[in-house]
Amino acid sequence: MSTSIFPATRTEFFIGGRWVAPRSRTTLEVRSANTGEPIGSVPAAGPADVAAAVAAARSAFDAPDGWAHQPASPRAAVLRRFADALDARAQAMAPLVSEQNGMPVFLAEAGDSRRPGHLLRYYADLLDGPDGAGEEIREGAGTGRTLVRRLPLGVVAAVVPWNFPNTMAALKYAPALAAGCTVVLKPSPETVLDTYLVAEAAVEAGLPEGVLNIVPGGRETGAHLVGHPGVDKVAFTGSTAAGRHIGEVCGHLLRPVTLELGGKSAAIVLDDADLDLPSAAPRLAPALFGNNGQTCFLTSRVLAPRSRYEEVVGTVAALARSLRVGNSLDPTTQVGPLVSERQRERVEEYIAQGVASDARLITGGGRPAGLRAGWFVEPTVFADVDPSHPIAREEIFGPVVTVTPYEDDDQAVELANDSEYGLAGTVWTADPDRGLAVARRIVTGSVGINHYTPDTTSPTTMIKASGVGLKFGPEALLSYQRYQSVYL
Ligand code: NAD
Repeated sequence: MSTSIFPATRTEFFIGGRWVAPRSRTTLEVRSANTGEPIGSVPAAGPADVAAAVAAARSAFDAPDGWAHQPASPRAAVLRRFADALDARAQAMAPLVSEQNGMPVFLAEAGDSRRPGHLLRYYADLLDGPDGAGEEIREGAGTGRTLVRRLPLGVVAAVVPWNFPNTMAALKYAPALAAGCTVVLKPSPETVLDTYLVAEAAVEAGLPEGVLNIVPGGRETGAHLVGHPGVDKVAFTGSTAAGRHIGEVCGHLLRPVTLELGGKSAAIVLDDADLDLPSAAPRLAPALFGNNGQTCFLTSRVLAPRSRYEEVVGTVAALARSLRVGNSLDPTTQVGPLVSERQRERVEEYIAQGVASDARLITGGGRPAGLRAGWFVEPTVFADVDPSHPIAREEIFGPVVTVTPYEDDDQAVELANDSEYGLAGTVWTADPDRGLAVARRIVTGSVGINHYTPDTTSPTTMIKASGVGLKFGPEALLSYQRYQSVYL
């Protein structure tokens, strides 16, 4: 078994269960978020490489004795072996991800690198339960009996972002493979090195040839894949702008698509919230600043009751100041660098807009002293932010939190729902019943009460500019299946 430290320069792709030479001559250079220095390179897949990957996935799917036709139990056994092989690489995976995208290594270790194993085992277990059967008889409404079959959709194009690269990939390939689909994964160019460990794990687990294929590359590679005639379903996570474009392409092709896009979620602090920072910080920090602000579900738009307004502003600012900013590979770091220079520029443009507005900059706003290399930004808090200002409406994707006052619960809910997005939300209160009552009124796919910890066993629907379709839970299997009814 190879769990060796990853060689950062690779010259081949993982297609059809083996390492193959690229046809494209383009190379992707990967840089450290901590230093800005190059740390590796891989080939970028061109149209011929994408076509080879889709062909491999297609023949693995179409073969009469192939993956799609295997009974649920053997398929579940392969998924469990894949989970074991990925877990064996989690120690190597975590620093690799952290170095590439700036994710604090504690989060990469406990979260991103462990999630694929959990998800694969979860969907493997479902295959062994009633969801695995794939067929049921219904009595019909006076029409006679019907055999209802759930069948795999086919070849899945999985296009993923860099912020939680392994989690986002596994949220697609785990249910897709469990459903009997085959997959072509296109990782983000910023976080591509770790996918070679995923490929190694697939080989070790004995995943049949062509069941999982990986095509590194940027937007062009993704576009070739999404529009390829051999693809049956697209699963995309990324920005709303790219999602709209992919949605248009899939609409034209009448190709099923799941889109997990951006967010700008609200944290409603009710007037009875317990804001004692030592006890609240472990739940507030991941909900407001998690992964350096590079998380789709963050509730970075804090709505504070007028009666406790300055106290809430002070607490959020104290939280921001308390976070340890530093090299993402340091296990004590709570906020690492942003993924790239481009991303930092984008975040700093928003900060400049905030400074130029009537909002009050309470803390942060600059680059941390002593961290000259890498793409660091100080945890930043603005107060008195007008809810119509871009820093309160648009996804910043950096450690920037806004605070806006409200008069009563109704106005808090109104402000929370007054968003282009519909991804997540939090409610902070000493009264769980009151929190639940408010949560029920928030129009998003998920809401957390006094914390935000996604539960990958419970479904959430992406709505508004946050996407189309659903993810998590047994329900996610349906995103990779089609029904056929046979009237008996
Ligand atoms: P991005 O849209 O720039 O890129 C995402 C992926 O799509 C990358 O692999 C990229 O190469 C590819 N891509 C871009 N344009 C494409 C096109 N036209 N056709 C095919 N592929 C294309 O996003 P990003 O900057 O990598 O990720 C950050 C975004 O992802 C944020 O907006 C964040 O909110 C979102 N996100 C959403 C969720 C969710 O569950 N809703 C989870 C994580 C991240």
